[in-house]
Amino acid sequence: MQSIELVDLRTQYLKIKEEVDQAVLRVIDSCAFIGGPDVNAFKEELQNYLGVKHVIPCANGTDALQIALMAIDAKPGDEILTPSFTYIATAEVIALLQLKPVFVEIDPETFTIDVKDARSKITSKTVAVIPVHLYGQCANMDAVIEFAKEANIRVIEDTAQALGSFFTDKNGVKHRAGCIGDIGTTSFFPSKNLGGYGDGGAMMTNDDELALKLKMIANHGQSKKYHHDSIGCNSRLDTIQAAILRIKLKYLDSYIDARIAAADYYNNAFRNMDEITTPVVASYSNHGYHQYTIKLNGVDRTALQDYLAEKGIPTNIYYPVPVHLQKGYVEYGMKAGDMPLTEELTAQVLSLPIHTELTEEQLAYITENIIGFIRG
Ligand SMILES: *Cc1c(COP(=O)(O)O)cnc(C)c1O
Repeated sequence: MQSIELVDLRTQYLKIKEEVDQAVLRVIDSCAFIGGPDVNAFKEELQNYLGVKHVIPCANGTDALQIALMAIDAKPGDEILTPSFTYIATAEVIALLQLKPVFVEIDPETFTIDVKDARSKITSKTVAVIPVHLYGQCANMDAVIEFAKEANIRVIEDTAQALGSFFTDKNGVKHRAGCIGDIGTTSFFPSKNLGGYGDGGAMMTNDDELALKLKMIANHGQSKKYHHDSIGCNSRLDTIQAAILRIKLKYLDSYIDARIAAADYYNNAFRNMDEITTPVVASYSNHGYHQYTIKLNGVDRTALQDYLAEKGIPTNIYYPVPVHLQKGYVEYGMKAGDMPLTEELTAQVLSLPIHTELTEEQLAYITENIIGFIRG
């Protein structure tokens, strides 16, 4: 059996090696290293795939979030609602811009933002909410949008983990994740569902005015050459990455299907295990399984991880410490016990290997070992 990886990028690459190698060489040969036709073509192809009016490529998913917050004119002291159960980048950009992150609990079943809790934390300074489509599943965007309209605040969807996932709204209309709020942001970090071979990111919007602003801010606040209408930053999608992403975008749906098939295998294997809560898929979203994350009930997580590591099965914890309890974020005044649901989850979750190349043999080996450990 081939060794098990948390994410097997190499086997995936070998299947598209010829196409990718040619594309990379073509960019080098053209010497169009910055911008160039591949970035524009990728932008258009991603727009078509998502069914969104504007895609603005940028350097990474963290920049995408930062530029989005700059584009909505958030000012120092303004408050941004976001879950504490997320990757640090979501809160980091808020802090970096001297805005105030206001941490919100998550729904303990879907691990996405609890809008009821968000509603209770609204103040006169709140200007936006950033739901995170965690692990590949959409937050309840009907509830988020309704709440944001009521509160007159903006919605920025952190779609770094859920590009390609679908949200079905209350009228039965399907939307791609990231294309529902005012702005969606995503990442092409290699392990993401649409991953490049280096860093990359993008913003999505259906709003023409916001699109112009996002584009301008990502390019030094430049409206026309050497005319800078606002303070911006330098955040470009690398041309070689764009050329690779154009190829991988063609396979994104089949990559997601492969992840879902692996998740189905896990779900079925664990269906009679009280000690394992498998991912709950909400009625309004599908799950792209950026992560396959189980909740352990009364199982020694560290012992299980050690046991699996010995058997050559890597696992990971996303995320062991919630943002509100991170050392760098003490100034926001949160302490242990302030967010019980989030804190309990960080102690219970365990992410198993999930990628596009898992074989049945590997899945059988992983699940047998987990069940074997729990049953003793
Ligand atoms: C990966 C990730 C980001 C950041 O993306 P980068 O491209 O690494 O900057 C932001 N938010 C979430 C939820 C992520 O998973």
